[in-house]
Amino acid sequence: MPVSALSAVPAADRSVCAPLPVLGRDVTVPVAAGGEVAYAALDYAASAPALQRVWDDVAAYAPYYGSVHRGAGYLSQLSTDLFENARRTVAGFLDCRDGDQVVFTRSTTDSLNLLATALPDGCEVFVFETEHHAALLPWRGSRVTFLDAPSSPRQAVESLERALAGRDPHGPALVCVTGASNVTGELWPVGELAAVAHAHGARIVLDAAQLAPHHAVSLRELDVDWVAFSGHKLYAPFGSGVLAGRADWLRRAEPYLAGGGASRKVTRRADGGVDVEWQEGAARHEAGSPNVIGAHAIASACKALTEAGFEALAAREQRLIRTVREGLADVPEVRFLSLFGDDAPRVGVLSFVVEGWTGSRFAAALSAEYGIGVRDGLFCAHPLVSGLLGDARAEGGCGAPESSGAVRVSFGAGTPDEHVER
Ligand code: PLP
Repeated sequence: MPVSALSAVPAADRSVCAPLPVLGRDVTVPVAAGGEVAYAALDYAASAPALQRVWDDVAAYAPYYGSVHRGAGYLSQLSTDLFENARRTVAGFLDCRDGDQVVFTRSTTDSLNLLATALPDGCEVFVFETEHHAALLPWRGSRVTFLDAPSSPRQAVESLERALAGRDPHGPALVCVTGASNVTGELWPVGELAAVAHAHGARIVLDAAQLAPHHAVSLRELDVDWVAFSGHKLYAPFGSGVLAGRADWLRRAEPYLAGGGASRKVTRRADGGVDVEWQEGAARHEAGSPNVIGAHAIASACKALTEAGFEALAAREQRLIRTVREGLADVPEVRFLSLFGDDAPRVGVLSFVVEGWTGSRFAAALSAEYGIGVRDGLFCAHPLVSGLLGDARAEGGCGAPESSGAVRVSFGAGTPDEHVER
């Protein structure tokens, strides 16, 4: 499939998702100068508009809609197959190893919180302060070491090496690291960090929320123990995510949610209580009726991205990054944010500040005057953005309307060139 086929919903087919508030490439919006322009959604890092192919695949499932794992009925069996096939597709997409498990969750946040409940007793956690809050905060019951923001990938590796060197290599430990920053778009040296973690007897989980939509992620090659990502950033609709990786910690942990599906056998005890035998596989952490459509949509997006080829996607995206950089190079008031330097390898996510403007005012002006939708604020990475901005500007919440933080432009497979050029 050519990259151009990975379009967001085109105008002619808008009926497919008419009831949904999709802001796709073909939505027109009024601008201050008068008239209407095609809405330019440059906020893929928040949520990437689902692909037409994904909507089509979801719609094709409608006649077969039925509950999974619970019934002998034909539709129930089809739904179960669809759900389990989606699991296999995701396992292939992530190049899982034998014995790895794919658990369907609600999002990256959910996946990392699930993993946090599965840490062995006494597990130490190591995390860079630069992480998205979804990766920074779930480890509340554990001893957490927050590592300072590094100024290069090499420094990140050295900093982790130093932090892990002092620990007892026999005790459990987990490193949590992002693959690509949701603020700067910069790529992190995941393979090297994994090697350091393992050399010190620690495990590592990759937050691939921003990496997976742009790059092939191989658990095998990166040698990470788990990976987490969100469907809605990978061109599927909201509400589904993935945690994939080693089964052992997950199998030993209490179920993330207690309920049907997670329990294999429940018996009444003589003393009046109940005994529960929990499932051992992915179902252990998928209690309740699962989001079959969400899993199906993620699998559909994984297939579309694989068919388009990440190399082709990346080449196009790098061109768009250059367009933004060169287009803004003549504006002295603009300062891009980066940890590793402006030329560091990155995905299509760029944040900047504009001297004399708050992020929120600038973003509002882009929307009102040019029909361009971007994100502003601290992007749920307060320590990182505060450090990059200097504390004086760092107020406001995750994209809070009055925030005075930075402006973030992000794009991906469905972004037309002309939106970025504008
Ligand atoms: N990690 C990173 C790097 C992110 O950019 C995000 C969302 O922006 C998340 C985690 C959380 O993703 P979700 O909100 O889908 O749980």
